[in-house]
Amino acid sequence: MQKVWFMPAKAEEGEQALDDKVSKLFGEAEGFIEEDDFVSLKIHFGEKNNTGHVKPGYLKKLVEEIKGHKGKPFFTDTNTLYKGERSNSIDHLNQAYEHDFNPENLGCPVIIADGLLSKNYSQVEIPGEHFDRVNVANDILHSDALIGVSHMTGHPAACMGASVKNIGMGCASRSGKQQQHADVNPSVDWDQCQECGQCIEWCPVGAIEMIEGKGAKIDQEVCYGCAECVATCQFGAIQVSWGGTSKALQEKMAEYALGALQDKRDKSLFFNFLIHVTEGCDCYNTAQSRVIEDIGILMSKDPVALDEASADLMNERTDSQFLNELYAENDLDYKLQLEHAQSIGLGSREYDLIEP
Ligand code: SF4
Ligand code: SF4
Repeated sequence: MQKVWFMPAKAEEGEQALDDKVSKLFGEAEGFIEEDDFVSLKIHFGEKNNTGHVKPGYLKKLVEEIKGHKGKPFFTDTNTLYKGERSNSIDHLNQAYEHDFNPENLGCPVIIADGLLSKNYSQVEIPGEHFDRVNVANDILHSDALIGVSHMTGHPAACMGASVKNIGMGCASRSGKQQQHADVNPSVDWDQCQECGQCIEWCPVGAIEMIEGKGAKIDQEVCYGCAECVATCQFGAIQVSWGGTSKALQEKMAEYALGALQDKRDKSLFFNFLIHVTEGCDCYNTAQSRVIEDIGILMSKDPVALDEASADLMNERTDSQFLNELYAENDLDYKLQLEHAQSIGLGSREYDLIEP
């Protein structure tokens, strides 16, 4: 049985009230931050025009609390696989600042953990079923403690986006994101290819050759789907594959989360915000309306128990399998990620809900 703390909350209470609640919850989990610890606050800053993401105003006291323990907090995320406002560190930082995640407002730095073009990662060995090693962003890997701050959303492929997804997908390099999203290898669109040769330089197994006058060509027999070339091509010529099943995607997310947390099992904490829950994730570049009344903020040291408890609360409030019904047309089931997460040792689905 893992402890999950819960405080009812609504956005209408205002940012200061929610900031107080986060601080109160954090008080229940004290004791895992030590002097000089680098503390990653792993969050999604929200794509341009997205309004559902967790607001910086909810997290100011949390930063102060970490500093009070003499930790060194920083907000962080990794670059996206898709082309948008967060697919390289410069655009990503600018977007974070635009949503008021900046040192002046929050009192701590913002660091994009996988580097300018998502090449700053290391391979972590895991006992997974899909992977025996995963590509985790170095600045998250090298931090001493991690606090996941997740906005609960639906997701058209994963069904649920909460802590497991925030850590699994969100701590991965772009190549790691590609590995989670697809079971097939990338291919080159010759109409877009500028024949610059960068992808050939970066491919670790020499799977790419240049066909003069046409473009780069990937040998599918040699390619093992690492997606370095997708991350490298600045012309959008190497197409991202989105071909995997929801089950595989969810299981792979859980395995990546296992890798990201491997050396931080006693040094991590997770918050889920069931505030302005939206049908799609915070990568949507639109203002989405909420699909369920605000429920509150949950916190746990176990991301699996936390996601289970969060989904259960939504199910109870609606007397339904809420997220599954949201994506009934796609026949999705959010429980797949939790089942797999538990089976590989990421956490437990059993929890005690505690209202402090
Ligand atoms: S990096 Fe992109 S543009 Fe350059 S050769 Fe490769 S596919 Fe073509
Ligand atoms: S996915 Fe990896 S192995 Fe395959 S062509 Fe691209 S860089 Fe090479």
